[in-house]
Amino acid sequence: MSPVRRCSRTACGRPAVATLTYVYADSTAVLGPLATYAEPHCYDLCSEHSERLTAPRGWEVVRLAVESGPARPSGDDLEALANAVREAARTPRRDPSAAAPSDAVGGPGGRDSDPMEVARRGHLRVLRSPES
Ligand SMILES: [Zn+2]
Repeated sequence: MSPVRRCSRTACGRPAVATLTYVYADSTAVLGPLATYAEPHCYDLCSEHSERLTAPRGWEVVRLAVESGPARPSGDDLEALANAVREAARTPRRDPSAAAPSDAVGGPGGRDSDPMEVARRGHLRVLRSPES
């Protein structure tokens, strides 16, 4: 019985598919699954606006990808998301050219490394936004 969430951009009435949250303490904008509750620093975005999202200068955009299943945020998910954001904020940005794939022999868990992936919590993945 939930009302349809709409994109919060002016003059855009498309259904929202993602929620943008500003973490002011970390100068980070987190784009993740549609939040269960609207919060003061959250903005619902449609697919088009979430793809075209740009952060203010000096801010970092963290995109959370939902691997599978319906977006159904629970308390655990929100806690995991908060932890993932903290971890992403702590993790120093790695120089991709410094990480030679041939040197990465048998990493922990033999992860199929996505160079953009910096953290994983349950079904949430924290992705760096591509450098432009
Ligand atoms: Zn929109």
